[in-house]
Amino acid sequence: MLTQYAAAGQGEKEVVRTNAMIEIDQGLCKGCLLCVHACPKDLIEVSSGLNEKGYYPVVFREKGMRKDKRQCTGCCICAVCCPEIAIEVYRG
Ligand code: SF4
Ligand code: SF4
Repeated sequence: MLTQYAAAGQGEKEVVRTNAMIEIDQGLCKGCLLCVHACPKDLIEVSSGLNEKGYYPVVFREKGMRKDKRQCTGCCICAVCCPEIAIEVYRG
């Protein structure tokens, strides 16, 4: 797993992990956008097509991207805030 080092104040270093990924169940998503606004990396956006429930589901911007290029940290904020439990997070 790639790592980046970010200053954490007082001269300490905090390891920030990247190249995790999420999967969004398009059928469960009701397009509430909670995850879109919650992602600190702005990695989730609204899709252009409707799902079977008549909602515009969201999609992961880094879907299909090479692992070493992904910026998703696997922080799980998106999954925790989703009321439909439509998001799964994969790390490593
Ligand atoms: S796990 Fe974190 S960084 Fe990755 S998409 Fe969800 S909120 Fe964004
Ligand atoms: S929080 Fe869940 S239901 Fe709401 S837009 Fe995101 S994936 Fe869809």
